[in-house]
Amino acid sequence: MSPITPFTERPIKNTIVLFDVDGTLTPARLTVSKEMLETLSELRKKVVIGFVGGSDLKKQVEQLGESVLNDFDYCFAENGLTAYRLAEEMASQSFIEWIGDEQYNKLVSFILHYIADLDIPKKRGTFVEFRNGMINVSPIGRNCTHAERCEFEKYDLERGIRRKFVADLKAAFPNLDLTYSIGGQISFDVFPTGWDKTYSLRHVKKEGFTTIHFFGDKTFEGGNDYEIYNHPDVTGHSVTCPEDTIKILKELFP
Ligand SMILES: [Mg+2]
Repeated sequence: MSPITPFTERPIKNTIVLFDVDGTLTPARLTVSKEMLETLSELRKKVVIGFVGGSDLKKQVEQLGESVLNDFDYCFAENGLTAYRLAEEMASQSFIEWIGDEQYNKLVSFILHYIADLDIPKKRGTFVEFRNGMINVSPIGRNCTHAERCEFEKYDLERGIRRKFVADLKAAFPNLDLTYSIGGQISFDVFPTGWDKTYSLRHVKKEGFTTIHFFGDKTFEGGNDYEIYNHPDVTGHSVTCPEDTIKILKELFP
């Protein structure tokens, strides 16, 4: 591994380029291409780079490679609730500290009762995944097979299982300032309002960047890149696929 150029010695000053992972650096749910890794490594000689993913670090290691902590200046998993700067973990908050055990127990008990009473064709396992910055709730359970996952997505599209679940949770816990985000095929995320991808900006602002670029594919309202893409301090770039990301990078940083 070649030594990392200090931030202040990179030719384009005070500039950071942040990327969504799924659909932006990699095809959805798949791994990064060699071309993308080379493009990023060239870019890193000019500016500071980082990724901001919604899922946990384990998933990003699968998608971006084992050396991910060394390939990016900043690694933000779970929207920045798990954060690394130059491979060193940064201090961050957690969902459980924010909500407290008493409220959390009420919430998770409600969710598990609700799933127990759901009349759906298949239930598997891992209905609630407890993460650092959020919980992920899945009516079918996260360890279903790929075929079962596709089946559930279709069933949910027809009957709005997740949409109704979220509406019922909002009605049951009006006192909690939570955001419910339906994403992917089988689940939805629950996190404190404001803990979307803009959370990661708290970490980079300490460094004094004056230009913050962000690349993402779900920049429409309701998409998980929407808030950071539209943030007043951020120059947003909406992309359709990793090839599109490379194309725009070549134009911006020739
Ligand atoms: Mg994406």
